[in-house]
Amino acid sequence: MADACLFCRIANKEIPATLVAETDECVAFRDINPQAPVHILVIPREHVPSPSAVTNPELVGKVTQLAAELARREGIAESGYRLVMNTNADAGQTVFHLHMHLLGGRRMGWPPG
Ligand code: 5GP
Ligand code: ZN
Repeated sequence: MADACLFCRIANKEIPATLVAETDECVAFRDINPQAPVHILVIPREHVPSPSAVTNPELVGKVTQLAAELARREGIAESGYRLVMNTNADAGQTVFHLHMHLLGGRRMGWPPG
């Protein structure tokens, strides 16, 4: 765990968040500044700064699997949803603990801004 990392601290319950799921490997919580009716962040408990730093592909599989499960639970699996992993500056990554955004509940544009 990285002591100063916001998402490590959320995973360790040192900082409150609206948790929606916890597994052995992952934690999911609602984004504090939602960009869609459903906006959940799914993170691995392990501190990995970004997709560029992934060494264990299974971890990303677990994150994706939980996001898909939550999409079903939130009722947006059929209507559709978007999974996003912003990576580094041009993509607008602001928190350097790998996270997958689960966005849905409205029509989304393409290409993204
Ligand atoms: P990024 O821009 O790095 O892809 O996404 C970071 C996300 O974390 C943003 O959507 C932002 O709203 C969310 N976020 C930042 N700080 C907090 C926090 O303290 N709690 C929660 N629940 N979400 C946060
Ligand atoms: Zn972290």
